[in-house]
Amino acid sequence: MEAVDRETATAQRGGTQDVFYAQPAPVPLPMIERAQGIYMWDERGNAYIDASSGPMVSALGHGNERVIEAMAAQARNLDYAYTRVARNPVNRDYAARLSALAGPGFERVSLCSGGSEAVDNALKFLRQFAIASGQATRRHIISLMPSYHGATIGTLAIGGNDALVPFLDGFATVAHTVPAPLGYRLPAGETPETYAAQCARVLEEKIVELGPDSVLAFVIEPIGGLSTGAVVPPDRYFLDIRDICSRRGVYLVFDEILCGAGRSGKFITAHHWPEALPDIIVKAKGLGAGYSPLGAMLAPSAMVDELADLTGCEFSYSYNANPISCAAGIAVLEEFDRSGLVERARTMGGRLRSGLQAIMDKSPIIGDVRGKGLLLAVEMVADKATTAMLPDSVQPAERIRVHGLDNGIMLYSRPTAGSRFGHWFMVAPPLTITEAECDELLSRTEAAVRAFQVELRSSGVL
Ligand code: PMP
Repeated sequence: MEAVDRETATAQRGGTQDVFYAQPAPVPLPMIERAQGIYMWDERGNAYIDASSGPMVSALGHGNERVIEAMAAQARNLDYAYTRVARNPVNRDYAARLSALAGPGFERVSLCSGGSEAVDNALKFLRQFAIASGQATRRHIISLMPSYHGATIGTLAIGGNDALVPFLDGFATVAHTVPAPLGYRLPAGETPETYAAQCARVLEEKIVELGPDSVLAFVIEPIGGLSTGAVVPPDRYFLDIRDICSRRGVYLVFDEILCGAGRSGKFITAHHWPEALPDIIVKAKGLGAGYSPLGAMLAPSAMVDELADLTGCEFSYSYNANPISCAAGIAVLEEFDRSGLVERARTMGGRLRSGLQAIMDKSPIIGDVRGKGLLLAVEMVADKATTAMLPDSVQPAERIRVHGLDNGIMLYSRPTAGSRFGHWFMVAPPLTITEAECDELLSRTEAAVRAFQVELRSSGVL
């Protein structure tokens, strides 16, 4: 692909969003003009498989007529009603459906426009609850290193990302981090289970170190997204952290924004570990499935109603529980039921995973394939035997993206946490993907990996 012509990209007033993204070796993003199912077409008619559903958003694929029709019908009937002055029935119906799916302990649903807002809402809710209920000393947040929880100033400050330290320094109060229970490239002598047990112990030590009654919440992605490359912690880890948080009076928050909405093989990711349910669940991405901005915080009625009686929740956004978004959310849930998409995530996920493992077996640069259901990540390495990382200078995320485009596939990959933990790309297509489409996705992925290998050989890295 040709190098980006910045003058062309910025010639028009405004410019597309990517004029804000710095790209060290800029190759233009394709100008996508239309999309259907798992495919997207650029202005020249080239087709790409949307292999990561954007950033794990487009759970239903593109162009779903029933969702589009539900949104249009809602817009005609009631486009907007501000939640500080009016209630609306689609808000009521969608909240009832989401809380029914989440089950006991998650009776209340706060709706907003996306993941970052939803995490922010969870933090603001817990802090207000702590103050109103006489626990004002609880203010520290603990999160995992690495992790990602959003891009508002508040959520950037709780994400585990070394690369942001200079940006946040003196600008926002950065959360405390403890190691994420990674399963690849472990310290010598550790297994994923022993390492995860050690990570849980470090959490408890951190809570003790920060002092009694000072930690508000422990926020984690139960299954990692781009930040860890789909790390799935061992089951025992969830029992351990639930126990620690309960004993120490720390609220446990699951950020299911990326892994939630069916992709992992359960609609509510927390249901993989029913003995270790969190206090708060945050969801987005697949809820609106790309058709509408939509995020949700699910909380127990006991807490929400107590806070409502005390001081109430202070903060809201103009687009909270927007009727068109709620209608989209309901239509998306109906598509999940109609097409058995949660079950599909399990079966198609199994097929893709074995295909990716077969590619790994043949490739000198694929060191690990991991994840759950249709949330998979492929780790690229310089040496499989030693798990040595590729040098940052070869820009693995950017190059696999470009080789993907050359081979008709859009792969989502970006350096995370300063690339300290490795380089990977996400394979997480729409849950509607068919068996034949899985096979096509695999052959295009293999072609992209091969092309990257050739490039690495010719530049002497392999
Ligand atoms: N948390 C996680 C785990 C995410 O993956 C993301 C989005 N990548 C967010 C929060 C933020 O969501 P949004 O981009 O919708 O604000």
